[in-house]
Amino acid sequence: MNSLAERLSAIDAAIADAARRADRDPAEITRIVVTKFHPASLVRELYGLGVREVGENRQQELSAKTEELADLEELRWHFIGQAQTNKAGAIRRAAQAVHSVDRARLADALDRAAVDDRPLDVLLQINLTDDPGRGGVAPADLERLAEHVLALPTLRLRGVMAVAPLDEDPAAAFARVHESAQRLLAVAPGADWISAGMTADFAEAIAAGATHLRIGSAITGPRPAQG
Ligand SMILES: *Cc1c(COP(=O)(O)O)cnc(C)c1O
Repeated sequence: MNSLAERLSAIDAAIADAARRADRDPAEITRIVVTKFHPASLVRELYGLGVREVGENRQQELSAKTEELADLEELRWHFIGQAQTNKAGAIRRAAQAVHSVDRARLADALDRAAVDDRPLDVLLQINLTDDPGRGGVAPADLERLAEHVLALPTLRLRGVMAVAPLDEDPAAAFARVHESAQRLLAVAPGADWISAGMTADFAEAIAAGATHLRIGSAITGPRPAQG
């Protein structure tokens, strides 16, 4: 299991297995490869292997890589990290989807930063911990934030995103995400994406209805030291 191609196909096989065990069609699950801390050359290699959806969690790195890889026309960039409001413009210019919208001011800034009439796909990140520093909207405030985003003309509300806390059974955490997703659907019919599941817990996320997995190290290998 040493080459990138082998790791990618092993993960795709594991995703298909988990989907079948959950009685789901693997085709309804999008695998996003998280490439943070890895060089742009790795993204180019992944593109050569057919990868079209990639994720980054830091604006500067996202902007640098999208610039360097502008020739890879079918690549879709997902921003999955905590976003500073003053970086909203740069994020919007680089990404096609932002998974980490967790407050009205950030949504407003992303909306104002529209450069053409292409809508931006956004997901509402839910905080599954009691620590407000972890990013994400408190579950109780989900509907209010959804109503706010729905009123912004250039954002397309797609669904919810969450990271399972380290100190909780992922299946229990993802059951709560599924509940939030149902609540969102009640106010935003069609916003049916559930972005959940990483290297350590994607099978549990699939069982709980995840539509978008964010998988890094199992595919890319260990991340180089953080800069
Ligand atoms: C890094 C990261 C991932 C991928 O993590 P792995 O454990 O390497 O699969 C997924 N989601 C977010 C928000 C991340 O920051």
